[in-house]
Amino acid sequence: MLTIAMNGTKHLVLNRRKFLGIAAGLVAAGVIPRNALALAAPYSFKQGAYDITVVSDGTLTLPFSVVSPDAKPEDLAKLLGAAAQGDKAQFEASPLLLKSGSDVVLLDTGAGGNFGPTMGKIAESLKAAGTEAGAVTKVIYTHAHPDHLWGTLGADGKSVFPNASFHVAEAEWNFWVTPDLASKMPKDMEGMVKTTQSQLAAIKDKVAMFKSGAEVLPGINVLDTAGHTPGHVSFELAGGDGLIITGDAITNPQVFFAHPDWKFGFDADPATAIANRKKLLDMASTEKKKLLGYHWPYPGIGMAEAKDGAYVYVPVN
Ligand SMILES: [Zn+2]
Repeated sequence: MLTIAMNGTKHLVLNRRKFLGIAAGLVAAGVIPRNALALAAPYSFKQGAYDITVVSDGTLTLPFSVVSPDAKPEDLAKLLGAAAQGDKAQFEASPLLLKSGSDVVLLDTGAGGNFGPTMGKIAESLKAAGTEAGAVTKVIYTHAHPDHLWGTLGADGKSVFPNASFHVAEAEWNFWVTPDLASKMPKDMEGMVKTTQSQLAAIKDKVAMFKSGAEVLPGINVLDTAGHTPGHVSFELAGGDGLIITGDAITNPQVFFAHPDWKFGFDADPATAIANRKKLLDMASTEKKKLLGYHWPYPGIGMAEAKDGAYVYVPVN
């Protein structure tokens, strides 16, 4: 429950869901900025041995041609609803903070100061969650794209997480550190590759690699969801019927639950990405596991219900 002081004397008591609903309405109406929602009221829940808080690095805007290059703009606008703005869509970027015993784990780091004013909010968001970057003991990555990795280094080139070890899928690490990778990529991706390589080089002495199928931390298993990037992984957390942290295997629930066969524009190998996405959705709907998506409308936790050969997104927060 949340208690809000009114006129100094009276109190309005709301449950969290109602509070977030009202706050979301104020954000939509432009009364309070979007980031105030995640920063003022970070969403927390318990899963197995972990206390989890959905922190926020902010929001990013993607053109429909990236959201799904094969889809008609009018179909995307309809599916995305309030997240659609003309022919663009607003996506969240929500790293996770997991605490268990002495472990303070951050799952993906956001984009740092590299994506303009709507991103790079992780430090503020950690503070709102009652901790700070220096307290993080382990950083685990779903993959090494800029909006998940580039928050690792500050503007001074030093690690934002000086007391952390870094945990990356071996296949992902090996792909990105290939020395001549930049020259093999399209010209407009060269800069991105070089920055990613410099971030990885800076943490290389504190990196531990893991493989799909491994238990990266107690009760956290690694699922191979390659395709978005060559070594992209998701994580399954024990507890209840289970929770799958999907990273960018499913970048938007409204679009890709209804159309799991559509391409996402930033998938490196669309066929593999689609096959792994469908595997995740099938498992989640059959086994009633919760799903959590990095770019989904905050806090991005829901169930997949099978319907007419596709899926319906049912938020659970
Ligand atoms: Zn992403």
